[in-house]
Amino acid sequence: MTKQLWAPWRLEYIADADEQSGCLFCEAAAGEDEERLVVHRGEHAFVLLNKFPYSSGHLMVASYRHVGDFAGLTDEEALEVHRLAQRGMAALAETYEPQGYNLGWNLGRIAGAGVVDHVHLHVVPRWAGDTNFMPVLADVKVLPQHLAETRRCLAKAWPS
Ligand SMILES: [Zn+2]
Repeated sequence: MTKQLWAPWRLEYIADADEQSGCLFCEAAAGEDEERLVVHRGEHAFVLLNKFPYSSGHLMVASYRHVGDFAGLTDEEALEVHRLAQRGMAALAETYEPQGYNLGWNLGRIAGAGVVDHVHLHVVPRWAGDTNFMPVLADVKVLPQHLAETRRCLAKAWPS
């Protein structure tokens, strides 16, 4: 039993998703941080907020390079993706004090990947009781804080 919560900004993103023709990650990599919700840029990889988060502060880490095969990541890319996930968790801890995290790769449509041809690591902060109203793999989206504000807070809290 799930309930759709009021999240007015979802409407613009649903419209946005319909118009999306290129690769979300490549467009974010080439785009402007605020508009594309990019939290941090590294040398080989970068971090952005998920527009359709499973929880507040749901991050995605991807290589700049358009790679659809997990095994196709270079050593530098694979290492930096994980280093950025570590730093992202530190920024989340500083900002929202989550009690746990789910980190994961959804590889292939059958495994739940929304974007199948540009691999990315999900970092999902968790709090006790969050699944009571927000199953991690369900379609219910809860955004207690606007994504733009979340991006700003996490970018500010990013460890140097
Ligand atoms: Zn891409």
